[in-house]
Amino acid sequence: MDKQSLLRQLPAVHKLLAADESLRVLTDWPHSLKTAAIAAALAELRTQAAADAMNLDGWQTQTETSAILWRAHRLLQHQVSPHLRRVLNLTGVIIHTNLGRAPLSARALQAVDAVARGYSNLEYVLDTGTRGSRHAHVEERICRLTGAEAALVVNNNAAAALLALRVMGDGGEALVSRGQLIEIGGSFRVSEIMRESGVGWLEVGTTNKTRLADYQAAWSERTRLVLRVHTSNFRIVGFTEQPSLHDLVTWSHSVDVPVYEDLGSGALFDLASRGIGDEPTIGASLSAGVDVVSFSGDKLLGAGQAGILAGKRVWIERMKKHQLARALRVDKMTLAALEATLIDYEDEAWASSIPVIRMLTESAAAVCARAETVAAALLDDPHIAEALDLTVGTDVSRIGGGALPTEEIATWVVRIRLRRGAVDSLAAALRRLPEWPVVGRIADDWLVLDVRTLLPDESAQLVASIRAAVAAADQSPREG
Ligand SMILES: *Cc1c(COP(=O)(O)O)cnc(C)c1O
Repeated sequence: MDKQSLLRQLPAVHKLLAADESLRVLTDWPHSLKTAAIAAALAELRTQAAADAMNLDGWQTQTETSAILWRAHRLLQHQVSPHLRRVLNLTGVIIHTNLGRAPLSARALQAVDAVARGYSNLEYVLDTGTRGSRHAHVEERICRLTGAEAALVVNNNAAAALLALRVMGDGGEALVSRGQLIEIGGSFRVSEIMRESGVGWLEVGTTNKTRLADYQAAWSERTRLVLRVHTSNFRIVGFTEQPSLHDLVTWSHSVDVPVYEDLGSGALFDLASRGIGDEPTIGASLSAGVDVVSFSGDKLLGAGQAGILAGKRVWIERMKKHQLARALRVDKMTLAALEATLIDYEDEAWASSIPVIRMLTESAAAVCARAETVAAALLDDPHIAEALDLTVGTDVSRIGGGALPTEEIATWVVRIRLRRGAVDSLAAALRRLPEWPVVGRIADDWLVLDVRTLLPDESAQLVASIRAAVAAADQSPREG
């Protein structure tokens, strides 16, 4: 039979809709959605016919009424499911920007749920029954944890930088070391942010070496600000020099110029003392005299997306009053997650209750135990054991999020591959699962699953996802 006559035999939409099975398969959805789904299913079949993706047998089974209705059901289900959804992160990158950065702590989740579910005192003082400020909920906590006089939370750290530069730069000129004119992922460029905030800038020193004398030589009547940027996502090693923060601040204040430091991730506590990297702490910058620092809420801090400005009261108050602050203000859910995470830090057990910190500090032995549990559960399933090769071994995890780029954390991984089939198709099947998709990475023809970034209650789900992906890969052996 030729293609044209095959296509002519496809039933019409209204016939499919009227079929007895239609009610059972497409259930209670509105008429318009069902019609659209059936039309889309027919269009999909036509496309497949045009691409010769099916033989005659396949075509005959796929064009039966119930097969078309089930295809429509799948498309309808897709349409009514959220596009943004939970993913299992097996990349071993702890602060993975593409996968949503920091998972929230239990306390933060509870706080978001409570505040989002009903009304809240977001801008209301319960004591006096008068209007309040949304900034009040977290300011004191941030100050206590960092030693700042005042603090302000905006949408993200890029927004914080924009506001700080606009207010502190005051349309004048900023001095910035050439080695700190960086680009962060997602096309955040320090130079572009300065342009947007109406601040001119003078590049000081060279890419690898900047001395205090370079700042002094560049200073003029137009200088309003010294900008210091933490080079989060790369390191220049070898013949390098930057003035110490203390020297920079002392000189800068001697000529009446404030210092703003973009710390990127920043750390509330000294992670280095726990054997992790050398990320500068926010408190250390502030006690060195930096006027204002900014950092992200969803990097090493471990809360939701936010940008935190902390420092001298005069500057923070000016920022709060600026029109831009209104445009960049945060939502109640952001504040709830941030406040709860800051409360987590008050607790002795903070390192285990905040997910990103727990993942950073979890011992290789504990990760190994999780890898072995997952491997055993996979091999316990005869279908999986038959379809996959599997090994457990060591590897390295990364921190990600533009923090500590050179830091490697020893980890344990489960490596899997299909006995029959390409590793790409296994990876694709895992990514394309409608629920609980899995993202790993491919190395040397194995799909590498780093269980350091698997949350404690996700192991069983990972096994179920792999089982579903193996079944899907089995059904489409020719798909690549
Ligand atoms: C990550 C980062 C930013 C951007 O922060 P967001 O919270 O993602 O907006 C800005 N500056 C530095 C140095 C960073 O590391």
